[in-house]
Amino acid sequence: MRVIENIFTSLLRHEYARSMSFGPIHEEDELPAPAPGVSYQLYLHIPFCLVLCPFCSFHRVEYQPALADRYFEALRQEIRRYGEQGFVFDDLYVGGGTPTVNEGQLLRTIDMCNELFPIRGISVETNPSDMRPDLLHALRDRGVRRLSVGVQSFDDGLLKSMERYDKYGSGQSIVSALEGARGIFPTVNVDMIFNLPGQTETSLARDLETLLAVKPEQISYYPLMVADSARRRVAESMGPLRKSDSRRFFEQIVSALSPEYQRSTAWCFSTQGEAVDEYIVERGEYIGAGSGAFSFMNSTIHATSFSINGYCHRIAAGSSAITRSKQLSRREQMRYDFVMKLFGLSLDKAWIMKRHGRRFYLDMALELLGMRLLGALRLFGPTLSVTPRGEYYWIIMMREFFNNVNVFRDEMRKQIRFEYDALEHDAGISAGDKPENG
Ligand code: SF4
Repeated sequence: MRVIENIFTSLLRHEYARSMSFGPIHEEDELPAPAPGVSYQLYLHIPFCLVLCPFCSFHRVEYQPALADRYFEALRQEIRRYGEQGFVFDDLYVGGGTPTVNEGQLLRTIDMCNELFPIRGISVETNPSDMRPDLLHALRDRGVRRLSVGVQSFDDGLLKSMERYDKYGSGQSIVSALEGARGIFPTVNVDMIFNLPGQTETSLARDLETLLAVKPEQISYYPLMVADSARRRVAESMGPLRKSDSRRFFEQIVSALSPEYQRSTAWCFSTQGEAVDEYIVERGEYIGAGSGAFSFMNSTIHATSFSINGYCHRIAAGSSAITRSKQLSRREQMRYDFVMKLFGLSLDKAWIMKRHGRRFYLDMALELLGMRLLGALRLFGPTLSVTPRGEYYWIIMMREFFNNVNVFRDEMRKQIRFEYDALEHDAGISAGDKPENG
């Protein structure tokens, strides 16, 4: 079984790497016009953090108040422009980075979205040290229904090795912050990581006990995913990376949480039956605004500039911030649907027939057969559904998917200097305007 798993995983890695290879950088690219009568989800990316955790591959830079002020101004301008183009948003997801790093700017931006669009639900990501009662109530009063807190672990030793202890607090202070948020939002989600260097079964068991005592409505337990560019940084501050314990840890998590939590996706545990997970799983199409945001429309992925200065200048000049796009082929679109929908543990066959027809079963034969051989998928009945054994394979698939997103992020980061140099040339921007991180 392990041999099949290894062959299958390396095939997936290869295939997904191809799916995430984008075309060349464009000077600028636009989203297509919105479909009439359709409401979209709006994703806002806030790329600032108080400390840059060594394992993290998201687009983020160290918080600089002046740059953040300029950034939020540009972000609001970009959102207003989407409104003028006829986009209607009914759902808002603010992720990062740490969206609450500048609460005044965040609240102003949410207020503007509420004024411009019929927003029904808002999710905001945060870190434990920002969970002050006044901010939590201000968010709740503006319609935030889901607060997602980056915890990663309650183990002080691990928090120190992740360089989070000093800025985001000890395990005990994180517990107090989570207890303080109880009852304010319909859903508090806690993000955790397993398979961290230095993590032991005992440490994981203590984290699980703490979670069961705090009992947030939702827990997302991710395997550690490290971009190639971050491997050395992680090894230096946290210790050598390992792969072999991943399944054992996952089984420990499932067995500890299963009695009290239901599964809503392969790595998401919820007390509420239905749960909200990553925006890409929830909604078919979404619009991303801000530096380093992705949009998905008409089977095309669009990515905005990773240069924060470049982003602000583009928006100020009335240009689109999108610099890369990739149109998914039919097969890539099928694969995307297959992975994302089954990450939510079931895929409606009628929906897939309507979307792709019978070709789906031919073109996806490799994945379907591989998953069947691994005992990961039930093929009969009105839905394709993931078996308990298969949940771990979906974690592997998602890990591969996100690893390839990380490869793409690394590529976009490499473009920052090139992009800034072009701006400098065209707009006469002085070198002093350029922070090190772009
Ligand atoms: S893990 Fe969270 S807090 Fe740490 S750098 Fe990444 S986005 Fe910022």
